[in-house]
Amino acid sequence: MHTRSGFNGGGRAAELLSPAVIVLALVALLLVPVVIQREVAEIRAEIQDAADPARTAVTNIQYLLARQTSSLRGFFISRDSSYLESYRSFAVREREAQDRLSTLVRRLGNDPLAHSVELRALSERWHMELELDLREGAGVGPGEIPFESGLYLEALGAASRLDEALARATRERRDAIEAAERRARWLQVGLGVLALAAALSTAWLSRRVQRLAAEAEARRHEAERALAETARAVESKARLIRGVTHDVKNPLGAADGYAELLEMGLKGDLTPSQVKVVAGIRRSIHGALEIIQDLLDLSRAEAGDLPVEHRPVRLDRLVEEVVEEYRGSAAASGHTLQLALSPDRPIALTDGARVRQILGNLLANAIKYTPGTGHIGVAVGLEPNGAGPRPGRWVCVRVSDTGPGIRPEDRDRIFEEFQRLAETTVRGHGLGLSISRRLARLLGGDITVESEVGQGSTFVLWLPGEPG
Ligand code: ADP
Repeated sequence: MHTRSGFNGGGRAAELLSPAVIVLALVALLLVPVVIQREVAEIRAEIQDAADPARTAVTNIQYLLARQTSSLRGFFISRDSSYLESYRSFAVREREAQDRLSTLVRRLGNDPLAHSVELRALSERWHMELELDLREGAGVGPGEIPFESGLYLEALGAASRLDEALARATRERRDAIEAAERRARWLQVGLGVLALAAALSTAWLSRRVQRLAAEAEARRHEAERALAETARAVESKARLIRGVTHDVKNPLGAADGYAELLEMGLKGDLTPSQVKVVAGIRRSIHGALEIIQDLLDLSRAEAGDLPVEHRPVRLDRLVEEVVEEYRGSAAASGHTLQLALSPDRPIALTDGARVRQILGNLLANAIKYTPGTGHIGVAVGLEPNGAGPRPGRWVCVRVSDTGPGIRPEDRDRIFEEFQRLAETTVRGHGLGLSISRRLARLLGGDITVESEVGQGSTFVLWLPGEPG
């Protein structure tokens, strides 16, 4: 039972989870390539728009540096100023290339940037040194060519270091692109597997739900069949009881008639001991007739064909009358019988005759089962909202006694047919309370019992009150 309900709880959670997982996996499957493509596109743009043009710029700078030195060499050898002009124009182009380069390398991280700064600084220092030499140019002799000084060579070295740094940056970016594409592939495979697993578990769950639904349907059919069978059994039992009681009632009635004739002396005078025997016979016959009547009532109540009315009934008056009927029998048993009427004149929507029958049973039991000289109390009143068996307005009649009380474990049993407590020695046939409870329920009410063993019992008859 436990594991079953545990499974159901888990099953319901999985039922909701699987479709959610499928949807999430599919959305992720669509989103992953988009996100990765965007990431890859950014890196590709860095290579195409920055790294490749930067490498071109570096090659250009190397070329321009070489052209500057060859122009200067021409100038120093020939002293022809056209060489100087050509040097200056290459120097201007180199500066432009340096400007372009520094904007490009800014996008490629610290390493290329540092090398480009170094290249620019060395080139500028070389140009400054050259300008000084050109100003003092007259004193420079062949073989002492300043443009080939250490700074020029350092600038060329810096250019090739920058080129390597740019090649490294490009490689790193290509590696990052490959890694992102590999990641995307794995993610897609993983998400595909997840979606597949969720789809399979959904299919499995829906099959299980179908099986459970089929089982529930089968159980419902079974319950309906059992209900119909019970109804048939109740009906045939009721028919049997009605038939038997009818057949037994008539001969018993006839036997009582004959006994009455004897009692009346129509067949000759009876001796005192014969009178006693005939009285005994009549008591037994009356007892049997009572049982038959009870059985008849019970089977009709069980089959639901005991007609009951629902009319406004002044309960205080009715209860008073019933109490008066039983006053003699209570006194004969040595009990006091007290009635407490509430001033609120409770009116119940009920059937007066059935209420008399129920109260008669409860009072007869209280008198019968209370030993010695006891006290029996009857109280009628409106009950506050919420105190009754169901929400609504209730009138209740309490019949209390100072008898032996009823143990908690017996309090339901005494309302079953033919159930009598083991310690009960007083005569009875165990039908009164079960008929009374059935009647009370037919009237829309109930009977409950409160009791303390050794102190007494209180039987409470609940009846629906007239709506206020
Ligand atoms: P009967 O009185 O004919 O035996 P009931 O159905 O009226 O049948 O009562 C069932 C049993 O409940 C009784 O046999 C008795 O053991 C117990 N019982 C009923 N009323 C009382 C009471 N007021 N005090 C103690 N026991 C009771």
